[in-house]
Amino acid sequence: MSSRADGRQWLPAGRTAAVCLSVDDVHPGRSSDHYEAGGDLDAGVLGRLARLLEGHPQLRATLFVTPEWRERSPVPTRSRLARVPVVRDHAHLTPPLPRGTMRLDRHPAFVDYLRHGPFEIAVHGLSHLARGPRPPHEFARTGHAGARRRLRRARELFAACDLEASAGFCPPGWELPAGLERALVREDFRWVSAARDIHTPIARDARTAMSGPRGLSLLAPQTIAGGRLVHLPVNFQATSDDARADAILGCGGLLSIKAHAVKDACGHIALDGLDDAYRDRLDTLFERLRARHGEGLWWTTMDELATHVGQQASTPGDGS
Ligand SMILES: [Zn+2]
Repeated sequence: MSSRADGRQWLPAGRTAAVCLSVDDVHPGRSSDHYEAGGDLDAGVLGRLARLLEGHPQLRATLFVTPEWRERSPVPTRSRLARVPVVRDHAHLTPPLPRGTMRLDRHPAFVDYLRHGPFEIAVHGLSHLARGPRPPHEFARTGHAGARRRLRRARELFAACDLEASAGFCPPGWELPAGLERALVREDFRWVSAARDIHTPIARDARTAMSGPRGLSLLAPQTIAGGRLVHLPVNFQATSDDARADAILGCGGLLSIKAHAVKDACGHIALDGLDDAYRDRLDTLFERLRARHGEGLWWTTMDELATHVGQQASTPGDGS
């Protein structure tokens, strides 16, 4: 079976395809707050994930953590303001959480849980909040300089509580404008996961055409930004069927599974929120993949994948 899912031999020797799992929107929110996003520790979504990992020792998970979460609702709640032209583009259409409420250093038990858990940590914005009609699209209008400031501040907040984050990034709202892409390069990020497509039919040369950047490989890591970033697609979630997973792996691709830490954000239900039903679905899927695809599967993380691809890209004579 070929592993040239994107014209490049990106899989390690002996592997026929790869699997990774990532969870977005992780922050210290508890069920006693607006919604739980990891802050309930073992009793909440992170405990659910930890038990899934225990049941599947080969499985690993990347948590995209927002170091100062300020988004209260993913959709505008100030409906009168949202109808006022011009003003609506420059106002917070959902009241932000007060500064510091969810800042990592204010939640030492949460940070401790992440630090000692079986998780890989990566950066999911600074606040997950923007003015205007799309509250999660934090970087839509920051420009290059504003994006760099936010990336630096995010890293400062991780460092301030001694929580190690990999050099990877997932943009809130899936939006990767050119200014953010350049900012990631300048701030020495090595990889980004910005394109999600759970609809385009699976084929070796399939391209992303849903959320985030379009035209990137749907099945494989690929370098972008002039070779200075590795992009990792998302192509599977709770609503995807087993046939999609089999098709991706049958093409020698990366099965990149997404979940969200928050299931119910003020009545806005995430289809891929990691509740008990999604946990059970993944449990069954992983059993099946192990039985069907065996030892050839590379169960990896986004950072490990990006590191491997980066090393290949810098190796002369790799056929690229
Ligand atoms: Zn998010």
